[in-house]
Amino acid sequence: MTHTLHIVGGGMAGSEAAWQAANLGIQVVLHEMRPKVETFAHRTGDLGEMVCSNSFRSDDHEQNAVGLLHWEMREAGGLIMDTAYTHRLPAGGALAVDRDAFSAAVTAKIAAHPNISVSHEEITELPSEGHWIFATGPLTSEALGAAIQAETGADRLAFFDAIAPIVYAETINMDVAWLQSRYDKGETEEEQKAYINCPMTKDQYEAFIDALLAADKTEFHEGETAKYFDGCLPIEVMAERGRETLRHGPMKPVGLTNPHDPETKAYAVVQLRRDNALGTLFNIVGFQTKMKYGAQTSVFKTIPGLEDASFARLGGIHRNTFLNSPTLLDDQMRLRSKPNIRFAGQVTGVEGYVESASMGLVAGRLAAAEILGQPLASVPQDTAHGALIHHITGGAEAKTFQPMNVNFGLFRPLDGLKGGRRGRKDRYKAYTDRAKACWTDWLATQKELA
Ligand SMILES: Cc1cc2nc3c(=O)[nH]c(=O)nc-3n(C[C@H](O)[C@H](O)[C@H](O)COP(=O)(O)OP(=O)(O)OC[C@H]3O[C@@H](n4cnc5c(N)ncnc54)[C@H](O)[C@@H]3O)c2cc1C
Repeated sequence: MTHTLHIVGGGMAGSEAAWQAANLGIQVVLHEMRPKVETFAHRTGDLGEMVCSNSFRSDDHEQNAVGLLHWEMREAGGLIMDTAYTHRLPAGGALAVDRDAFSAAVTAKIAAHPNISVSHEEITELPSEGHWIFATGPLTSEALGAAIQAETGADRLAFFDAIAPIVYAETINMDVAWLQSRYDKGETEEEQKAYINCPMTKDQYEAFIDALLAADKTEFHEGETAKYFDGCLPIEVMAERGRETLRHGPMKPVGLTNPHDPETKAYAVVQLRRDNALGTLFNIVGFQTKMKYGAQTSVFKTIPGLEDASFARLGGIHRNTFLNSPTLLDDQMRLRSKPNIRFAGQVTGVEGYVESASMGLVAGRLAAAEILGQPLASVPQDTAHGALIHHITGGAEAKTFQPMNVNFGLFRPLDGLKGGRRGRKDRYKAYTDRAKACWTDWLATQKELA
């Protein structure tokens, strides 16, 4: 094999990508800047370092989308999952690990692989030649961030996320909420009814503000706030600036008529906007927050219409470098403007150790197959990997794109299954069965590659 694959970043995604490509016979150079150049969150020079929690979340591959990703990665001989299982700690249904033993083992396996060499250096450019995967994560170095912005345009690479909670559409009570865009704006009926609106009385609004102010909040990590800007203020900070601020901001009640009670003017309105092309997920507009997860669930369930809401993702604000992937990447995870470059991991706009490793797994295989002259078909959309890739490279709204973790709201619905909470168990089992079959078929197409 004459072509080398260069992978930048030896975190969850880069280590997995290197492992996958090397196992298909490709020579890999893994460029990792640590320990020479440090980040505020990493503490070692090890590969696959877990910067915070030691958990890979749920391991339930029949009823949980993260557990399904685990299963798919294990079927593909994934380095991160195999190593996690070896260093597993008791944690109920979650896959938690001894973090130091885990990253030491990832480092040792990569070092021992005959097809991989590791180079400890910072890469600061996007090369025009050769095969490259950039998996530099939420803390991509400053110089490389500038090079990416020069290639993509400054507004296509964010340095902070501002995540509003996302709700499963089917769990919103439409006997209380209604569909309408402010002032019925839009040419088509679909545009005129693009938002879900939840009305509040004065008493409900005042109680909501009290709950926001009293809720437990998370703090930024030390060093995380550099470059933080005022444009994405958490909802609770807006409430601290004045009790009426939200009513004049994201919760303003203007241009809307409640068809369930047309004579009564709502005192405030919470709006939810469609978050994916499938229409299964809606985000609460302007509700980025640093409230703790438990507090978010209880505060947001006081919103009329969301009493029984299930959340596909809760809100947050973090230091996080990520691309506007829906406009920049194709479904092979290549940069449209420079197809010799792929991106993988959290920098593509997925979130979490598991999702990042899974994007590395796919990028490694796609790049290896391309080098071998046998490009792979796109990852099937009905797998967990495929649902995520489809979302970040096209299914998500590009204008409001924010990082996403894997969840069943990203999966194409199956016909003939009961909706709502009651049907959930059977539905999730059907999604995971379908995903496993598609993933097995996709992997089978690659058996001859190595
Ligand atoms: C403070 C903080 C806390 C987090 N907590 C959690 C958590 O509890 N659970 C969770 O699931 N996720 C958490 N995350 C997200 C987590 O970082 C990702 O899920 C995961 O590590 C991303 O994997 P990755 O491979 O994309 O990036 P990383 O694991 O960060 O790996 C990227 C690697 O690229 C290297 N690098 C960067 N720039 C360059 C360059 N120019 N040249 C060479 N190398 C470079 C970095 O040193 C790093 O090793 C947290 C993130 C942060 C910032």
